[in-house]
Amino acid sequence: MVKVKFLKDIRKVAQMPEDEQARLLRVQDKYRFLATDYYLGLINWEDPYDPIRRIVVPTEEETLSWGRRDPSNEALSTVMPGVQHKYSDTALFLASEVCGGQCRFCFRKRLFVDKEKRETALNLPAALQYVRRHPEISNVLVTGGDALMLSTRRLTEIIEGLSAIDHVRAIRLGSKLPAYFPQRIINDRELLNLLERYNTGRQRIYVMSHFNHPRELTDVARASIGALLRTGAVVCNQTPIIQGVNDDVDVLVELMNELMACGAVPYYFFQCRPTTGNFPYAVPITRCYFLIEYAKYRVSGLARRVRYVMSHERGKIEVVGVTGKHIYVKYHRARDASREGKFLVFYRDDEAFWYDDLLAQRRDKSMIVTSSWQPHEADSGGVNLSRGHDSENASDGTGHPGIISQNTPSDN
Ligand code: SF4
Repeated sequence: MVKVKFLKDIRKVAQMPEDEQARLLRVQDKYRFLATDYYLGLINWEDPYDPIRRIVVPTEEETLSWGRRDPSNEALSTVMPGVQHKYSDTALFLASEVCGGQCRFCFRKRLFVDKEKRETALNLPAALQYVRRHPEISNVLVTGGDALMLSTRRLTEIIEGLSAIDHVRAIRLGSKLPAYFPQRIINDRELLNLLERYNTGRQRIYVMSHFNHPRELTDVARASIGALLRTGAVVCNQTPIIQGVNDDVDVLVELMNELMACGAVPYYFFQCRPTTGNFPYAVPITRCYFLIEYAKYRVSGLARRVRYVMSHERGKIEVVGVTGKHIYVKYHRARDASREGKFLVFYRDDEAFWYDDLLAQRRDKSMIVTSSWQPHEADSGGVNLSRGHDSENASDGTGHPGIISQNTPSDN
């Protein structure tokens, strides 16, 4: 069995010249460095722009002042240490502050920087009690950090506890280990047995993988996905669009095709969050949109299920269209139920990196709001949703969905 080594000090990276190590020490002191020797071995060290290198090796631009510590304001959804409840049906357990590597563009790097805050101090009995008392929670995401870096014993406690709650139908494990440290998955029979045991017809385990680039999908990485699938788990992939890593149509096409081939369904493309230290990795919204759209033209409908979203404090804002003049977005998920399904139009801004940049258009009152239908009983957008031909149920009888109101800047 190949032994994988973790490196925490850039000075131990044998492939890197000493003068470069010395320059990057300053960055490492601010935002930790962590990688397995396996993952560092995937880098082409001759290429200073190698995408795998961009994922895990610091760059000096990270010290530029930009972004916020908690760009999605997760504090707002935190109901107790280690538990977030943002969307009514989903709870999140921050159960681990350990990863198989340190992604340079991590949006939760605060967990590893402000260690004294102990956001991952999950009190499992209290967390389970919270879920029990909220029958609307149908799925729980266990993450951190990396869920699969938890010991198999701790994972067993968490999964056992959750699976005993009838209304929990899906347990999600957020993990980049299939990329950083796939050996942990394929070599741990106990872990695979655990997943197999709790993938019942009544509940399902989903592994939310995090492949950013097709070169991460090595034979051993594919084998780890295969092993997860054989337990009955479903594997879905989410990745931010990162400058110098996957902000390229060909790379996205290859990533989607390779993910589909190994059984990890492309699920979300995320806008890189404006987190402290993330300046060198962020790509503007309109550029991301067109990269993704052009890539989607070249893949099957199966891969096109992926959505491009901004994980904002208000919800998951899906970018659904960009024209010469406008950016169209929709609340795919909303923290506040009154925004659920809402559709908005902003003037196109090619410099916008985040939803807040679009919302800033409010200030000059130029934002267009298309206040669309809300999926509440009282408003079906003018469409009869009942079965049969009961035309009295249609709210305006026109058959035209959506109530368009322009220039109502408060309605967002
Ligand atoms: S694996 Fe996730 S939590 Fe860990 S460093 Fe990467 S993005 Fe952050």
